[in-house]
Amino acid sequence: MTAGVRGPAVLVAGGSLVGLCTALFLARRGVATLLVERHPGTAVHPRTPGYNARSMELFRAAGVERAVRQAGPWQLDGSGLLVAATLTSEQVRWLEPPAMRGPTDDFSGLTPAEPAVLSQDLLEPVLRRHAEAAGAVLRFGTMLESFHDDGDRVTAVLRDLETGATREATVDYLVAADGADSAIRARLGIGRDGPGVLDHQAGITVRADLSAVRHRFAVGKIDNPEVSAMVRIVGDRLTINVGYRPGDGESIDRFTPDRCVALARVVVGIPSLAVTPLGVSAWQPSAAVARRFSAGRVFLAGDAAHVMPPSGAFGANTGIQDAYNLAWKLALVLDGSAPPRLLDSYHTERRPVAEMTVGQALHRGRAWFGEPYPVSGAMLDDVTVMFGYRYGPGPVTEDPGAPSGEPGTRLPHAWVTRGGQRMSTVDLWAAGAVLLTGPGGAPWRDTVPAGVEVAELGPDDWDRVGDGGTGAMLIRPDGFIAWRSESSPRDTAVRDAVAGMLAGNTDKEIFR
Ligand SMILES: Cc1cc2nc3c(=O)[nH]c(=O)nc-3n(C[C@H](O)[C@H](O)[C@H](O)COP(=O)(O)OP(=O)(O)OC[C@H]3O[C@@H](n4cnc5c(N)ncnc54)[C@H](O)[C@@H]3O)c2cc1C
Repeated sequence: MTAGVRGPAVLVAGGSLVGLCTALFLARRGVATLLVERHPGTAVHPRTPGYNARSMELFRAAGVERAVRQAGPWQLDGSGLLVAATLTSEQVRWLEPPAMRGPTDDFSGLTPAEPAVLSQDLLEPVLRRHAEAAGAVLRFGTMLESFHDDGDRVTAVLRDLETGATREATVDYLVAADGADSAIRARLGIGRDGPGVLDHQAGITVRADLSAVRHRFAVGKIDNPEVSAMVRIVGDRLTINVGYRPGDGESIDRFTPDRCVALARVVVGIPSLAVTPLGVSAWQPSAAVARRFSAGRVFLAGDAAHVMPPSGAFGANTGIQDAYNLAWKLALVLDGSAPPRLLDSYHTERRPVAEMTVGQALHRGRAWFGEPYPVSGAMLDDVTVMFGYRYGPGPVTEDPGAPSGEPGTRLPHAWVTRGGQRMSTVDLWAAGAVLLTGPGGAPWRDTVPAGVEVAELGPDDWDRVGDGGTGAMLIRPDGFIAWRSESSPRDTAVRDAVAGMLAGNTDKEIFR
């Protein structure tokens, strides 16, 4: 083993979607970041096809929204799920999600960022490139073997899987983005709540000439007497997800290459189709939330922290949002601007949101696909799940169409003019915390501590965004309202509010 050197501040274990996002968000805030991923490169399977508009806001804030859009998003013929007997059937129908407000959920009043439909194997190289350009060091083919948190630092043993060589890395914090079966979570002894494994699926990937398939869709449901499957197409690759029952003696080994070829022909509806089987993987739609999202200097993000069935397409998005929430907090603690207790708010903020989101994915599985998933409470609409989650005391969600403007809620999107430039309020917090005021906000400027920008809005803009009066709003680096005041500046008010934000408070009683 080679001796470790004091290097990066944060080690990210796992370099799939959530690990890459964490590395990108940290590096853009100047945090020295090392990421290790045991696979030799980024995802080869298409996996997650959709990034919702809130995730796209975060990509926008991280400066990669355009690059993500340019990476080859799919053009779709319709929204919702394509339902057909085969992929070449003349007769198809579109099954809309059960919780849309309208047939296509127009987000333009809520955000400047449209959702993107893009497979994960095309997204990950974009995240990788931008994380590296921002200064993160990414080591593929490298595994975190063990770690020790001594209370002051975390020391990890990393193994290069090609050479077998190990080395130590000593860091301030470790982020476990090591997926649903997180060994780091297990090693920390963190249990999970929730129903657990819901189903057993075989994910079959084949290559074939799919030019006879005329429909363009994100996810299709193929139902005929021979097969019932959820399918996706990326280029000449077809992914077929079919359920099987291990309890009834079925096993993943029964999906032999010949059976996969036969299934693909039935799904496409061309008995003579030339098909090359590429692989079969077993996966279990599951619903579970880790009891703690952190322990000492270690934080769980993405599937390591929560798993949910794909119904609703929330899994990856929730992980991206974890990564953003954690990254700005780690950056401020590491540069000494915030006390370490800010990091406690990662668990207190993200866990209830994850729990709510898992519950909503279960609701959608039941309402959309007739799955016998356990549900409780009401099914919320998609817009509320995406934009209406809130932090701090009180309900976990609110209707983003009628925002309360309370601390702990997302600053609603509005078009405003700043420095002669038209921009969204979403663009105001991308660089860090910002104090929004109306015209004549100069007196506020004198009360603001270093590290917080002041954005003085014109009268019309301030009427729509703020209260139109002489007050101010403190916006966190993730676009959530930390504090608001409806009265004129007082000497210590903003300083106290910033200190509260940096201590992880989103308690409106404290800040009002
Ligand atoms: C069929 C299907 C469809 C889905 N559709 C959607 C959708 O439409 N929208 C959506 O939002 N979500 C969707 N999801 C969920 C989404 O794919 C996951 O939530 C997301 O990929 C989780 O990302 P992650 O980075 O947290 O974990 P993972 O993708 O599991 O990545 C963990 C990584 O950590 C690495 N690793 C593990 N241990 C170590 C170690 N010790 N050292 C180094 N590396 C390690 C692994 O190799 C792996 O690359 C879908 C999931 C499935 C299965």
